[in-house]
Amino acid sequence: MTEPTFAGQVSRWYEQHARDLPWREPGVSPWAILVSEVMLQQTPVARVLPAWQAWLDRWPTPAALAADSPAEAIRMWGRLGYPRRAVRLRECAVAIVERHGGDVPDRLEQLLALPGVGTYTARAVAAFAYGQRHPVVDTNVRRVVCRAVAGEPDAGPATRPADLVATEELLPVEPAAAALASAAIMELGAVVCTARSPRCGACPVEATCAWRASGQVAPAGPTRRPQRYAGTDRQVRGLLLGVLREATGPVPHQRLDQVWADDVQRARALAGLVTDGLVEPVGERAFRLIGDGPPAPVAG
Ligand code: SF4
Repeated sequence: MTEPTFAGQVSRWYEQHARDLPWREPGVSPWAILVSEVMLQQTPVARVLPAWQAWLDRWPTPAALAADSPAEAIRMWGRLGYPRRAVRLRECAVAIVERHGGDVPDRLEQLLALPGVGTYTARAVAAFAYGQRHPVVDTNVRRVVCRAVAGEPDAGPATRPADLVATEELLPVEPAAAALASAAIMELGAVVCTARSPRCGACPVEATCAWRASGQVAPAGPTRRPQRYAGTDRQVRGLLLGVLREATGPVPHQRLDQVWADDVQRARALAGLVTDGLVEPVGERAFRLIGDGPPAPVAG
């Protein structure tokens, strides 16, 4: 059978070549694995490593994080980017305490019901923390499956139900072997079958890869340009959040006015932080991280 051979080949490669990452160590808690999966979604491994360790040193359990404020979660998130993840992770910790007695649940439907836990994260925790058989599909996995099985260069921007089906068909029946294969396919996409320069000569499925066999025709149309950061609202939000993270109390409007000269863009960025639940007004002329201290007075 071709499909188990694919998983077997990639799994054997993984056992020999996988990166040595702390969340893959035996005995790592499901909570630690959940934190790693949330952090890794939009942030490179090298930046996640110290942040993950610091986070777990401070909050080794969901209950520990749930007992702290969302403001502290945003502070600890530091410069990992997309800080709404910090607030959602704390909400997730609260839900784990309230619904599951402080233990990360092991059933997929319970994981999917947690705040901030989507299709990918729920299956990743079920597979990597609990050794279950689920298709764990991120960008890297979609790319590998698309190339090696379908013979196409790119799987497109978003995970579709068909991607889950195509990946599940590749997994061994036995749950532990399936979980290993899921981690292995993901790793192959991260370090060998990369988007721009796949290293096919180092790939364990080179001999059977459909895209390789077809001559690796690159996709038609323009290649994706890297996203601009300088001058964007994202940059302004980051600057505002940096000031608020370092403050020990409400920050006066005048102090925030200093971080960016364009009044309109600065106001828009600040309003976005409030709308996203990261920042709250204190009275009419100051702001602070959400939940940073006693309840904010109601304006007006
Ligand atoms: S042979 Fe090349 S294109 Fe095919 S899966 Fe391996 S690295 Fe990717």
